[in-house]
Formats: sequence, structure tokens, C-alpha cells
Amino acid sequence: MQKLSLGTEELPQTATMPVLFLGHGSPMNAIEDSPFARGWQEMAQSLPAPAAILCVSAHWETRGTFVTTMTQPPTIHDFGGFPRALYEVEYPAPGSPVLAEAARDTLQKTPVGMAGARGLDHGCWAVLIRMYPAANVPIVQVSLDHTKAAAFHYDLGQELAALRRRGVLIVCSGNMVHNLRPIVLSEDLDFNRPLALDWALEADGIFKRLIAARDHKALANYQALGSAVQLAVATPEHYLPMLYALALQGKDEPLVYFNDVPVAGSLTMTCFKIG
Ligand code: ZN
Repeated sequence: MQKLSLGTEELPQTATMPVLFLGHGSPMNAIEDSPFARGWQEMAQSLPAPAAILCVSAHWETRGTFVTTMTQPPTIHDFGGFPRALYEVEYPAPGSPVLAEAARDTLQKTPVGMAGARGLDHGCWAVLIRMYPAANVPIVQVSLDHTKAAAFHYDLGQELAALRRRGVLIVCSGNMVHNLRPIVLSEDLDFNRPLALDWALEADGIFKRLIAARDHKALANYQALGSAVQLAVATPEHYLPMLYALALQGKDEPLVYFNDVPVAGSLTMTCFKIG
């Protein structure tokens, strides 16, 4: 049975909006000039203006699935060891209780909790501050249920498809290859230095071949993809947002990469646009 939602009715009818997967990397990209920040900015300028943004970020993990409902979500500085200037950044984009309700109603297979006291994490604001610096596009975040397997996240992503025709830009923020351990151990840490360890390159190649073949099932079953992929997906939370984005790829929709470089050995900044 189709639930009628006041929220959905208040969103515009539009052509199908693109979907983005963004490799976010260091939060310093929010305030430092970098090719990645410029890539995000140029991408945003090429897109139709969104009515709202639904963001799936690596940095909000919960038991159960939640959406943010605050009308003025605070900026969460959920990192350590960065310069003071980064902690002083505020990204005052409004929330959208309308979109939160629409997302909840769209996700019919999963109970969705309304998170009324949760702001925007850096996986979300550190990229969107570059894309929409005026902070005038309303944002809702969807949490990652850390108790669920990757296939659950892929299925949940598919269910969000209807929102793309309501002016909603779905932004999935993580990193395809993300293993901070070699970076923490490195003596010349530089998040902008193009460098890839052998296994990082191998995993990157595996991911891209499967994306090109549209073998999303294999990507959702990433534990079976060998040792390089196990190192690349050291923990699932930065990888899962990519599955949400791929789950939204229509049969004939193109996928275009940008910011497609490895940095600091064991991280890739790879982003893509679908649609
Ligand atoms: Zn991150």
C-alpha cells in the first residue's frame, strides 16, 4: 500500500536528479584549497539546482536506520588533531523535516527513526561547504545501521530512488579505498600527496572493473573479493556509501569518475556521478 506523505507532496516534481558518490578524505579539504575541493565545486556548478540534499555519510553509524529532522542542524566537528580553524567552521545549511518524512515514507521495508538532536557530520559538511558554500540547500542525513550486512545497505539505497524525481540530490560520502593504519604509521603524512600502495591500486582496479560490469552483487559481497579488498575496506563504513550510490544507478545511466586519484598510500579520493 502506498503511504501518502505530506512531506513528499511538498517536494517538487522534477526530472531525475543525478546521484553522487564523493571520496571525502581529510576534513581539511573544507578549508584548504585542493584539487579535490575544486572538483566538488565544479561538479556542483554543473548540476541542476537541488531542492534538497539527502546525504549518506560514513561518519554516522547507528543501531537501526535514522534520518535527521532538525530545522537548523549544528555542525559536528567529529575528528581529532586538526588545526583550530577547522573546529571553528560552521556550515549553517538548514535541515528539512519535509525531506526527512519523505525519506522515512519511501523506505517501506525498514523502520526509520527520526533523529531530532543530530547535526551534520564532517563526511557531509566538509564536502557540501565546497559544493554549496552559500549553505542554502536543505540537508537531511541518513544513518548507516552498523548491525546490517552490505546487501541490506544496497537494498536500502535502491528504495531511495523515488526521491531523485522530487528534486533531491543524493550525496553518498565515504572513500572507496580507506585504510588509515598505514597513514597513521607514516612519517610524512600528506593527504594531498598522490601515492598508492600496491594493494590499494589492486583493490581500486577490482572495484572499477566491477562497477564497469555493473556487478553490484559482487561489490556488495566485498568480503569475497580477496585480500587487497579486505585491506582497502579495513572497516565497512567508508565503503558502504558507495553501495548506496550504485544501488541508485538506472539501467542506462552513465557513471562518470572525477577526483579519481589515490593519496597518502591507502586512501582514494575517487568520486563519481551517476545520471
Ligand atoms: Zn571519513
